[in-house]
This record gives sequence, C-alpha cells and structure tokens, in this order.
Amino acid sequence: MKKIIAKTKLRNYPVIIESGILLGESSRAGTILKKIFPGSEKVVLVTDEKVLSLYKHKIDGLLSSTDKEHKIVTFPDGEKSKNLSCTKIIYRKLLDFNIHRNDLIIAFGGGVIGDLTGFAASTFHRGIKLLHIPTTIISQVDSSIGGKVVVNLNSFKNIIGSFYQPHAVIIDLALLSTLKEKEIINGLAEVLKYGIVFDKKIIELINIILKKIDQNSEKILFELIRNKKFEEIIYRCCKIKTEVVYKDEFDTGLRNLLNFGHTFGHAIEKATELEEISHGEAVAIGMILAIDLSIKLRLSGQEIKDEIIKLYKALKLQHELPWIDPDLILAAIKFDKKFTSKQDRFILLKALNRPLFYCNIDEKIIRQSIEENMSHKKD
Ligand code: NAD
Ligand code: MG
Repeated sequence: MKKIIAKTKLRNYPVIIESGILLGESSRAGTILKKIFPGSEKVVLVTDEKVLSLYKHKIDGLLSSTDKEHKIVTFPDGEKSKNLSCTKIIYRKLLDFNIHRNDLIIAFGGGVIGDLTGFAASTFHRGIKLLHIPTTIISQVDSSIGGKVVVNLNSFKNIIGSFYQPHAVIIDLALLSTLKEKEIINGLAEVLKYGIVFDKKIIELINIILKKIDQNSEKILFELIRNKKFEEIIYRCCKIKTEVVYKDEFDTGLRNLLNFGHTFGHAIEKATELEEISHGEAVAIGMILAIDLSIKLRLSGQEIKDEIIKLYKALKLQHELPWIDPDLILAAIKFDKKFTSKQDRFILLKALNRPLFYCNIDEKIIRQSIEENMSHKKD
C-alpha cells in the first residue's frame, strides 16, 4: 500500500493506493472506511449504470462491510449526467435518507461521477463527508484529487462549481481491469502529461514495462496497466497532483501547468464538437502541438518530439491531427483564452520536465504548427 497525505487549506486527507484494496480477496475496505469515517452513520454511494453493472456484487459487499445504513444512487454513464438536474436528484435522495453533515457520500466511478458527486457533497448542508473511489485512469490520477467539483450547464462545460476537497481518496488499480481500450488510451494521455511536464521517471517506467511486453500483442495496453510497476506510475502522478494543489490550490498560477497540451486539446475538442475525438486523444495531440511550437520558437530541440512520438506509437496514441480546418482551431483557441485568461498564454517546454509559460505567440507560427502536424489534407 502507498499513502500520500494531500495537504490543503480546507483539510488534509489521505490518498491510499493499492491494487485490490477494495475488491481483492483480502479486502480491507470496511476497516478502512470505519477508521476514516467513525462518525458517519449512513452512507450514500453514487455511481453510473455501467460501473454498477460491472461491480454490483463488489459494491454491495463494500457497503455491507461498513456496518452503516446505506443506499446506492445511479445515473446513466457519460458526460450527459454531469449537470444540475442530476445534482438535484442526489439532493433529493440525501434528503429522503435524512443525511446529516457527518454522514458519508461515496463517488464510485470515473471523473463524471466524481465531479457530480463532489459538487453535490460540497453544497448539501454546506458540505458533507466525501470519499472518492475513482475507477478510471483519468479519475485516479487527476479528477479525484484537488477538489475541483463541477457540473456542466447546457453546452458550457465545467462552468458551475467550486473547490471542495474530499475527506479521503481510495485508489484500487484492480478496478482498471475492466476499462475499454479507448478509455485506457484516454487516461494514458494524462499520465504522459505528468511524465512530460513534471517527472520523466514516469516515462522511464512506461518504457521499462513496454520492453517486457510483446509489441505485437493485441492486449499491450491491458498488460501495461496490469503490470505491478503501473501502481508506481499512478502513485507518482497522484504525488505530483497533490504537490501542485498544495502550492496552488485555487489555480492562480502553478496549477495551470497541469493544463499542458490542453489549450490545443480543448480547441481540437471544440473544433470537432466533442464527437470524433476523446479528451485524452485531443490532449495527446495538443501536447505534440505544444512541443512543436516550442521547437519552432527555438526553446527546445527536435529530439523531445521524436521521443514522445515513439512512445505514442507504442501506446496507440495519435500524434497527428485528423483534418480539421486550422481556422476552426485558431478560433477555438481565442474563444478558450477569452474565458480562461486575458493573455494569450501557452505552456511550452524547454526540455522534458522544464515547462514555461509563453505569451503572445505570433498566430502564423501557431497555424504552421497546426498545419504541419495534420495527418492529411482535405480531399
Ligand atoms: P467517465 O466518468 O465518463 O468514464 C468514462 C467511461 O468509463 C464511462 O462510460 C464509465 O461508465 C466507464 N467506466 C468507469 N469506470 C470503469 C471501469 N472500472 N471499468 C469499465 N468502465 C468504466 O469519464 P472519465 O474519463 O473518468 O472522466 C472525465 C470527466 O472528468 C470529465 O467530465 C472531465 O471534465 C472530468 N475531469 C475533472 C477533473 C477535476 O479536476 N475535477 C480533472 C480531469 C477530468
Ligand atoms: Mg485533462
């Protein structure tokens, strides 16, 4: 077991990482929950229908082992459930179950369930006890730590929310075994982000695991996340996230570095209207564009791009943009900047793990990066 104490202004909380900690043969779930939440008499667990269908038996076992009165609330899986109507459904269930401030709500699922449940937890009774049990790579290394709790309002993503730190995070890597390959790829992009921006050991560890796997194996990504060393990778990502949040909890500077690749990534998602490309895939291409821009501005050399592309190929991540009108991407970048910062600020790289903020880049250079990193031109 690995444990990190996340330190924040609101509270300090444990992030516990262990494969099989909740669901394995020797599950210690009940004991852990009783120890961390001694004052909670009732538990409400929120999940999505897909996760429930996969883990119903285990969730029932986990809840029974807490010796607390409990209920399960479910929503359809996917981004469409991250809204105020679903938040209201949670409030209603909490009221019906007579939940008090000391009682516990568990977010058992990916980032959607974590964000939705976190937002409900932060506002009900002005804050009830919150435990995250993240079940996707993205939620394990990113959304469950750091206290950003948000929902969407119509097409405005993550526009309603606040900062509310959980009381504990329990990460069980065994839960990742049921992920679809697309979701693994989605999560690996964020893992690589930590490796590129903060900790090259993550990249080293991935390469070490890859060397032991047959490169022609259909199941290469499943073998990667099943490897014992993948736990060390998840641990390192969580450690970085907790340290960054400690230094800049309310996202006024340093925490922005976690958005490496996201300026282009969000623009790609917007230009493709969220349909053809997942967030992780968009961020993966966005990181290549940010690296390319760094090379064009003579901040870094070509070798980083080559190294990262080689890794992408092994991990089935796309490094080239599919054909998208560059004007659409440029317009989306401007739109994003208008809402997120006043300045035209990009996160670029001097070298691996040497990020920097760079302002007011000539649009011609940005366009050049976009055009040169497209897989093919429109017919
Ligand atoms: P998600 O929660 O939609 O999960 C993706 C899919 O995987 C869903 O279909 C889900 O049912 C399925 N799934 C979840 N766990 C599974 C498992 N163990 N086995 C099989 N299938 C499983 O999406 P996500 O990628 O986890 O998270 C994306 C969301 O997180 C977005 O809404 C994003 O805005 C948010 N996010 C928030 C933060 C933050 O700091 N709050 C950070 C990053 C992302
Ligand atoms: Mg992201």
